[in-house]
Amino acid sequence: MFTMYSKRISATTGIYVTAALHRLFGRSMASESVTRFDFLVIGGGSGGLAVARRAAELGATAAVIESNKLGGTCVNVGCVPKKVMWSTSTHAEYLHDHEDYGFEGAKAHFSWQLIKRKRDAYVSRLNQIYRNNLDKGKIESIHGYARFTDDPEPTVEVNGKKFTAPHILIATGGHPSTVSEDDVPGASLGITSDGFFELESCPKRSVIVGAGYIAVEMAGILSTLGSKTSIIIRQGGVLRNFDALISSNCTKELQNHGIDLRKNSQVKSVQKTDKGLSVKLVTKDPDDKDAQEKCDTIHEVDCLLWAIGREPNTAGLNLSSIGVKLDERGHIVVDEFQNTTHAGVYAVGDVCGRALLTPVAIAAGRKLAHRLFEGKADSKINYNNIPTVVFSHPPIGTVGLTEDEAIKTWGKDSVKVYTTSFTPMYYAITTRKSQCIMKLVCAGKNEKVVGLHMQGFGCDEMLQGFAVAVNMGATKEDFDRTIAIHPTSSEELVTLR
Ligand SMILES: Cc1cc2nc3c(=O)[nH]c(=O)nc-3n(C[C@H](O)[C@H](O)[C@H](O)COP(=O)(O)OP(=O)(O)OC[C@H]3O[C@@H](n4cnc5c(N)ncnc54)[C@H](O)[C@@H]3O)c2cc1C
Repeated sequence: MFTMYSKRISATTGIYVTAALHRLFGRSMASESVTRFDFLVIGGGSGGLAVARRAAELGATAAVIESNKLGGTCVNVGCVPKKVMWSTSTHAEYLHDHEDYGFEGAKAHFSWQLIKRKRDAYVSRLNQIYRNNLDKGKIESIHGYARFTDDPEPTVEVNGKKFTAPHILIATGGHPSTVSEDDVPGASLGITSDGFFELESCPKRSVIVGAGYIAVEMAGILSTLGSKTSIIIRQGGVLRNFDALISSNCTKELQNHGIDLRKNSQVKSVQKTDKGLSVKLVTKDPDDKDAQEKCDTIHEVDCLLWAIGREPNTAGLNLSSIGVKLDERGHIVVDEFQNTTHAGVYAVGDVCGRALLTPVAIAAGRKLAHRLFEGKADSKINYNNIPTVVFSHPPIGTVGLTEDEAIKTWGKDSVKVYTTSFTPMYYAITTRKSQCIMKLVCAGKNEKVVGLHMQGFGCDEMLQGFAVAVNMGATKEDFDRTIAIHPTSSEELVTLR
């Protein structure tokens, strides 16, 4: 397989030789040589795999270097196992409604071990599918950690072997941020989202630290599956970079779900006791100047989860050797075409720090492949109007500008907002109730829909189609002209007044 896809060039003679010849000539020659491809991809995650396959389809000899399991964050410790756990937790919610829907005496025992086993097996199947896809696409798969060398031509070393290409892509993603022991003594007794997927049983008492979407999703899953859950946030609400309506509603929904929400709070220290962890908190209302700091301790915690952000995987790449510029947080600086500051070296996905989502990494990678190997000079993605779902309880769907962003862009007088809140029909006959909220942000004389934000039953699946309309520049009138589908929650978006 190796000989089919790659060419090697001897570092000393500059003559192309095949890998088979190298094996014949023995180790010393191989150690001096550099294996050459048309396209070298560092990172076999969402972005890296998609771009390598597209490049190979377009005729390039391509290789993917991966130090861990194929599929990256999304498949192994992100979207995929998270969605399985979210679906599991929605079952736990439906169980409460079974009797209301006539299923009397429906009782169920939940086995975390069973779902973990099935989830892990599914992830392993996906790992294998990715491997098969690389083989089918005649893409070289190199296992190991890649690092740029000091060679004059950008060259990557993996397990002592050198590889190069006229086009090298960095798609190394990121990892969860952690807290140092200096800042919070005992912090390392906690886990991150990666560790969540290793839990062998449902924690009885969980503390989640963070206010972003991963914190919200993990808190919702754990709480719905029966863990007594606290969420510790530094400010007054979660999801603060979302539209204000979503932020306030999601904060309220977490509390409605019985999650103990500690606002304006930070973890001061963590101690291990024979009954679990003791998590010491300090709380201070920033709006009350006279307020004293209050201290509290949450006892008998068996899962402390730091969900305080993510950091790019750039530190070990030796990028300074080729002069690739990083921002102050270590993300790779790229232009709109994913070019780094070094010609012939590109970056896509989480490592660039913009719109950290699987479909963004994939789309940016594929566009790059068409630019490099099909001559489509203008091929690039549009970072506006990227639809996003938060798998909270109930789920959130959002696309486009928040109301505040629209006002900043268009001016207050040119922005008109339509909102609604209602109880979805699913809850008409249940004792458990949950609201759906929606907001359309419209701008300009013709009321172009520039933002759409919602939280409620089914909003996750509702969003994609509406995102097409927003991307096409639909106006409020276009929404109004569309005949409603009854009885659904989506119909509310085309009947807003
Ligand atoms: C808990 C969680 C839930 C998420 N949920 C969603 C969701 O619902 N929807 C969504 O769209 N996104 C979600 N995401 C985000 C999504 O997973 C990422 O945006 C996506 O995986 C980014 O793809 P990538 O190719 O940039 O990086 P990754 O998928 O992280 O791949 C990078 C790969 O590079 C490898 N690597 C790193 N350094 C090296 C090196 N030096 N040499 C060799 N290999 C290296 C890593 O091992 C990794 O496999 C979630 C993330 C998390 C953490």
